Amino acid sequence: MNDTSTISTILLDRDGVINFDSPDYILTASQWQAIPGSLKAIARAKQAGFQTALISNQSALGRGMISQTTFDAIHAAMMLAIHQQHGSLDVVMYCPHAPDAGCLCRKPLPGMIQQALEQLDATASTTVMIGDSLRDVQAAIAAGVRPILVQSGYGDAEAILTKARALDASIAVYPDLITAMNALLDSKG
Ligand SMILES: [Mg+2]
Repeated sequence: MNDTSTISTILLDRDGVINFDSPDYILTASQWQAIPGSLKAIARAKQAGFQTALISNQSALGRGMISQTTFDAIHAAMMLAIHQQHGSLDVVMYCPHAPDAGCLCRKPLPGMIQQALEQLDATASTTVMIGDSLRDVQAAIAAGVRPILVQSGYGDAEAILTKARALDASIAVYPDLITAMNALLDSKG
């Protein structure tokens, strides 16, 4: 397994990592349900002194499937749930654009990761990106950040892993965020 003892910044995808994802998108606050252990994992990251940022594609906004008001309410509920577990996110970034908008932020492009690193004054070489999809892995690699794959999304986890390994043969893979976080904390010692 890769040496992660020098990692100081953790970037997190949202859907399929912090909360259960759905092929029908997360369109209401009640559809936002934390994956067991994920909020505790974010709290542990904070307690251990990691910087954290959310890096999330939210094309439901650009597709007109959800209003900004409802989206903001979902994020407010998410932040409250994180805070109630004594966690926090230092930076929250999301791409609101539809896939055909031609933006530079939507993963697999590295735009959001690069912006988050700038805001955090963090270095790519000491940063990991934890995601459940191939786009997360691609964006991480494009930004020079180490990808970590979790298999708590709704997609075909084994197919995603096969494709991810084609991009990074030694990619670390865990069932979920809490397991990935515990491994990072163990390596930090
Ligand atoms: Mg995801």
